[in-house]
Amino acid sequence: MSEKQLRIDPHTHSTCSDGTDSPTELMENAAAAGLDLIGLTDHDTVEGWDEAASCVNKTGVGLLRGTEVSCRAYVDGSPQGRTVHMLSYLHKSDDPDMTALFNKTKSARMGRVEKMVERIAADYPITLDDVLAQAKEGVAIGRPHIADALIKAGCFPNRTACFDEVLNPRTPYYVQYWAPDAVEVVRIIRHAGGVPVYAHPRAVKRQRLVPTSVIRDMVKAGLFGLEAYHRDHSAEWVVAVQTIADHFGLPTTGSSDYHGDGKPNRLGENMTSCSVIKRIEDEGALPIIWPD
Ligand code: AMP
Ligand code: ZN
Ligand code: FE
Ligand code: FE
Repeated sequence: MSEKQLRIDPHTHSTCSDGTDSPTELMENAAAAGLDLIGLTDHDTVEGWDEAASCVNKTGVGLLRGTEVSCRAYVDGSPQGRTVHMLSYLHKSDDPDMTALFNKTKSARMGRVEKMVERIAADYPITLDDVLAQAKEGVAIGRPHIADALIKAGCFPNRTACFDEVLNPRTPYYVQYWAPDAVEVVRIIRHAGGVPVYAHPRAVKRQRLVPTSVIRDMVKAGLFGLEAYHRDHSAEWVVAVQTIADHFGLPTTGSSDYHGDGKPNRLGENMTSCSVIKRIEDEGALPIIWPD
C-alpha cells in the first residue's frame, strides 16, 4: 500500500507582512483547503511563527517555519541590482546576523515607502499615515500596504489594479530600496541553520532575469533548492527552472505564495513533495511542528 501523499504548501504570507489573514486565520484557511502542512514565510520577519505554532493542534495543520528574505543580485556592475526573494526555512529565530539583516531591510523599506508616498500623494489622496495604518506595527512595509491605502481612498478596486497603474517599476512613483546581496544572504541563512530556497526565480513579468551564473554562485554558497511551481512562472519557465535545478543537482519546490485577499493566489494551488520537505527538515536547525 502506498504512503498517503501529504498536501504541502510551503510559501504563504500573513498580516505579519503583506498578507491579509492573521497567522490564526491562515492556519484555519489551510485546514479548510485540506492542507497537511503549511510554510509561513512572511517577508523579512519571524513575527508570525509563535501565533501560527499555537494553532497547529486545533487546526491539525503542521507548520514549517520560514521567512522570505528580500535581497538583490548585483550583476553587470550595476548598483541597482535585480530583485531576488530567498526563502529561508527552519533558521534559528534569534540568530543575530539574520535579525540585523531584517532590521536593516525594514528601515530601508520604510524610507522607500516614504519616498513613494511623497510622489504618489501629488496625484492621489493618500498620506504616509494612511499607508502605515494598513500595516501592523514593525512589519516590513511594502507596496501592498500602499495599495491598501489607495483602495481605502476609493482610487482602485484591488491590489492588482494598484500595481498595474501606480506601483510597478515602470511608473514615475516607483522607488527602489536597499537590499542585501543574494549570495551573501544564502551564506547568512546557512550560518543561522536555515535552508535557502530561491523563490520564483523566473517571475520575469515582475522581476528582471537573474543570470544562471548568479544561481551557480548561490549554489556554491549553499543554496538548497529552487521554487519551480509558482503561478508567476509560465509552463515554459517551469521547465526552464527544472532544467537549471537538474543541472546543479538541486531539488525543486512549488507553492501558492498565498497573500489572503491581497492576490488571486489560492492555498494549495501548487505544492511540494514530502521527500523534499523531509530533506529541508534534515538540514534545518528547527523541527517542523506537527499536530500531536
Ligand atoms: P515590495 O515588497 O514592496 O517590493 O512589494 C512586492 C510585493 O508585492 C510582493 O512580495 C508581492 O507580494 C506583492 N505584489 C507584487 N505584484 C502584485 C500584484 N500585482 N498584486 C498584488 N500584490 C503584488
Ligand atoms: Zn508579499
Ligand atoms: Fe516573493
Ligand atoms: Fe512570497
